[in-house]
Amino acid sequence: MDYIIGWKKDKWLVVCCCMMTVLVLLLSSGYVYMTMHKVTRYQVFAGTELIGAVSDKTVVSDWLKKKREEAATMYPTVQTGLLIDPIHYLEQREYKAAFDNEQVLRALESKVKIQTKGVQVVIDGQPLGYVKDAAAVNRLFDLYKSKYVQQAEEQDGLLLKSVEFVQQIQLVTKELKPGDIDDNGELLKRIETGGVQPVQYIVQRGDCISCIAYKFHISQKTIYDNNPSIKSTVIRVGDVLNLTVLQPLLTVKTVTERAETVEVPYDTQYIDDPEMKAGNKETVTDGESGLKEVHYLTTRINGELVDEARSDEALLKPAKQAVVRKGTKVIPGVGTGVFAWPVYRAKLTSEYGRRWGSFHPGTDMVSEQSGILASDHGKVAFAGWKTGYGNCVIIDHQNGYSTLYGHMSKIVAAEGELVQKGEKIGIMGQTGNATGVHLHFEVRKGEKQLNPLTYLAKADD
Ligand SMILES: [Zn+2]
Repeated sequence: MDYIIGWKKDKWLVVCCCMMTVLVLLLSSGYVYMTMHKVTRYQVFAGTELIGAVSDKTVVSDWLKKKREEAATMYPTVQTGLLIDPIHYLEQREYKAAFDNEQVLRALESKVKIQTKGVQVVIDGQPLGYVKDAAAVNRLFDLYKSKYVQQAEEQDGLLLKSVEFVQQIQLVTKELKPGDIDDNGELLKRIETGGVQPVQYIVQRGDCISCIAYKFHISQKTIYDNNPSIKSTVIRVGDVLNLTVLQPLLTVKTVTERAETVEVPYDTQYIDDPEMKAGNKETVTDGESGLKEVHYLTTRINGELVDEARSDEALLKPAKQAVVRKGTKVIPGVGTGVFAWPVYRAKLTSEYGRRWGSFHPGTDMVSEQSGILASDHGKVAFAGWKTGYGNCVIIDHQNGYSTLYGHMSKIVAAEGELVQKGEKIGIMGQTGNATGVHLHFEVRKGEKQLNPLTYLAKADD
């Protein structure tokens, strides 16, 4: 019996164990099953409002992208955007979690609105009009500037340094309807004319260009500029004239730069040489001109030249100084070869050359000061009366040249005397064949009478 009871006990134990095992197997496979059938979904919120659930965030983001593209295509003349509360998501992972992509998109569709924006252009506080965006503004302005840029480049050449508007320009982004955007050509015209209404005038009897200009308070230039058919001052009764004075809203300021190569003159250093005869010179070193590049900035306002200024300069090649030896040795009674004016502040009354059918061999001059001065160092070769010349002095400069001074009222030099350049030799008068008080002055080389002015003109140093 004990055996039987013992066996029975064991049997129950075995049955229990088997049942437990089966239960554990069932539970774990159920867990695995449920885990395998869990689904991720995203709850979609617009602001704080729950819209629904979708299987993936891209369902919404792709839809938004498509809506934005549709809006841009629908309203190409303005900036477009979508007006909707900010979208955010809550991720959930549950057994057989439900979602409905279509329902969410339908709900969003009913909430979204298309927003349209543009840019208002304001010139010096005055609204001009509306364009799509900053790029459109730039295109408009570039078009307006282009003729002045071209003009500046053609007239002044070389480099365009800057193009700018004198006025303050403000761009204000605003919400607006596609129909509010202005036509580009219309805006350009508005800028060019300043919104001025055209004025026409029919020429009346008795009209003239200057009369019409006066009547309308405009310049004659405006009339000629506006009416290229008028070539002279002639206008005919019945002619129709355009008298519109444009007042462009934008003033274009252009600055161009041009460069010029300019010679730089050399200077000369003189070295006194007491061994060399006064009046002689000898070049030691030849001078050479240099070169520099000078830059000019030209400023135009609406094409009219307003300023041209030297901006800077660059030395391309320095000038080389000349060195000249200059004689200072004075030999008494020997001329330097450089002639000085024989009177102070001479006024010429008659020049060397043909005169009244004869030949005038010297230069006549008068002065408020009556002293006659030796034109160069020399020896008085003649002092006395000479037919025609009256009281007359001839100085032999002992270098091949001599000078003659005629018509003097008084002679103060004596024959054979050595005189210095600038020394007084007589007083101006009208002795001999003379009409009025004056000095008759001759320069001779040997016997040949030369034009004194050629020699006096050189008397610069
Ligand atoms: Zn004379």
